[in-house]
Amino acid sequence: MQIDILTLFPDMFNGVFQSSILNKAAQSGYFSYNFINFRDFTENKHNKVDDYPYGGGAGMVLMPQPIFDAVDSITNANEKKARVILLCPQGEPYTQKKAEELALEDHLIFICGHYEGYDERIRQELVTDEISIGDYVLTGGELGAMVIVDSVVRLLPGVLGNDASAKEDSFSSGLLEHPHYTRPADFRGSKVPDVLLSGNHANIEAWRKKESLKRTYTRRPDLLEDKKLSEIEKKWIDSWD
Ligand code: SAM
Repeated sequence: MQIDILTLFPDMFNGVFQSSILNKAAQSGYFSYNFINFRDFTENKHNKVDDYPYGGGAGMVLMPQPIFDAVDSITNANEKKARVILLCPQGEPYTQKKAEELALEDHLIFICGHYEGYDERIRQELVTDEISIGDYVLTGGELGAMVIVDSVVRLLPGVLGNDASAKEDSFSSGLLEHPHYTRPADFRGSKVPDVLLSGNHANIEAWRKKESLKRTYTRRPDLLEDKKLSEIEKKWIDSWD
């Protein structure tokens, strides 16, 4: 996968891209990345990327020309169309399902905004996806791009040592993940459930499924709204009310 990030602040990515799994994944060739400072594409004397909004009002608006030219410089007419993702609080809320969808692509381009907003023609003519990472407003799109890249790259086959672990993560199956315990079996009087020490894999699996449902029901009942539940699962839920 090729990831290109259009940003005015490429240094912000250093710590995140050069640490942990993202760093290893890049070193091992699972993905490659490139930062493009769209200020380098300006055609005006002072390298301005923004201007006052038509009609007046507070804040500056990112101009279309540097961003269009930066994207043109990295897209190849022969390649399958890249996904051009605009980070934006008005975009579709980001989910694990979206991460899974993006993980199937060959080329992702992120546009990180700053200031008041984007010229509307960037949304209309250039982008394929507008994504928000939550209902709050950040200073710029860089943190959002980091969140999306991290969650997508860990889904690329081979990136996590054990591919099964991503499949068991919260949201992948539509539920939150079950609780985990590690040694010691008794910590300050708080004990690990007996079933996990039993060595009976079928019972452990059944316990985990039930705990996963319970955790989802108690913390995020909204995730169960469209989920088909078996009769036994419905009975469990009734017993937790
Ligand atoms: N005036 C804009 C509005 O009300 O929609 C907010 C602009 S914000 C200060 C500057 C930039 O930060 C945005 O263009 C976007 O790239 C990024 N940003 C802010 N909040 C975000 C969010 N929740 N998700 C993704 N990107 C966000």
